[in-house]
Amino acid sequence: MKTFDPEQAITEVRREFGEHGGVSPSISRSSTFTVMDPCTMPEIFQGLRSPDDGGCYLYSRHFNPTIDVLARYLAAMEGTEYAVCTASGMAAIACALLQLCRQGDHIVASHTVYGGTHALLEDLLPELGIATTFVAPDDPAAFRAALCPETRVIYTETIGNPTLKVADIPALAAIAAEHGVKLVVDNTFTPMIVSPAVLGADVVVHSMTKFINGASDLLAGAICASRPFVHELMNLHTGRMMLLGPTMDPRGAFDIIQRLPHLAVRLREHGRRALTIARRLAEMGVAVTYPGLPSFPQHALFQKIQNPGYGNGGILTIDCGTRERAETLMDRLQNTERFGFMAVSLGYFDTLMSCSGATTSSEIAAADQTAMGLSPGLLRLSVGITGSLEKRLNQLERAVRDSGLAA
Ligand code: PLP
Repeated sequence: MKTFDPEQAITEVRREFGEHGGVSPSISRSSTFTVMDPCTMPEIFQGLRSPDDGGCYLYSRHFNPTIDVLARYLAAMEGTEYAVCTASGMAAIACALLQLCRQGDHIVASHTVYGGTHALLEDLLPELGIATTFVAPDDPAAFRAALCPETRVIYTETIGNPTLKVADIPALAAIAAEHGVKLVVDNTFTPMIVSPAVLGADVVVHSMTKFINGASDLLAGAICASRPFVHELMNLHTGRMMLLGPTMDPRGAFDIIQRLPHLAVRLREHGRRALTIARRLAEMGVAVTYPGLPSFPQHALFQKIQNPGYGNGGILTIDCGTRERAETLMDRLQNTERFGFMAVSLGYFDTLMSCSGATTSSEIAAADQTAMGLSPGLLRLSVGITGSLEKRLNQLERAVRDSGLAA
């Protein structure tokens, strides 16, 4: 397996200074950009000039200088040629899939994906004539078996939300390459920890709303891919980014540019704390799932695909059996112990907790939730990085015991 270091890759990107030599880049908020020569504008519309090949900027739904700085950092982090930033993670997923698929096409997707993605694949795309077959994320043979002549895309999350099932990305990349289809991977749970494009994925999508931004104060997404694919997305006449218009605000791009340099530091701490907490829960006999635990069924696969030195991620789950028991535990953790917050989303610097089946996966029918191994009592914890770890462990231990969940 190739060794790739995303943290180092970001530092090797050309540094963008602000006006007057500012160490932070300036925010370019213009919606439109002037040209010196009347021929330039038609050339941009014909795709003959763009900012990344020495051309110039046109209009901020197309390329924008500040958003482009962030795009270059993200491409470096994922080991792709280029990237596009979007207004949300869903915008990145929808635009990537709509660029790759047309009416009559077919997708093979993991059945364990974020509820919004599941609804996009199961409900919205079929209305446009794009069908999806769902398969288990941990079964590459099932992906292969579901391929048909109309298949254009294999879609998976690196670690499935919320069951944490790991996709064998090298195996899926080999299947995709063999059949001439594109492998699209949502790497929201594991930025830096896993580099899907380096493992063979064609397109990597992110909800930057989560770990990459890390402050739960904005929504953002990204599509990291080859330069030609980015130019297809940004084609002024046909590109899905241009026609659907989910453009990021340059002020949001600036905020993420300021936070990306400490993503690796944050991830190591999320991972250190999540592992310590997962071990303690396992010792207490709690049904905990965490990719860093040797008892995790796909621990060896996860070790095989992860970049060394970034930990095992900040997400763990506790199966409380029933939704009522999960809600009792969350209530104690928030309102008695002040351990974290009952809130959807993840990757925040404080701990966030939600009962997935009734919330972020509620788009998925109950029978499908059962089939994908999602228990109604599954509590997803996005482990934060604030406060004394020892005190956090004490808070958690008390709440687990008081909720009757310890063995
Ligand atoms: N992908 C994953 C794995 C997610 O968990 C989410 C949101 O929870 C999304 C995509 C959607 O991202 P956004 O809310 O930024 O649109």
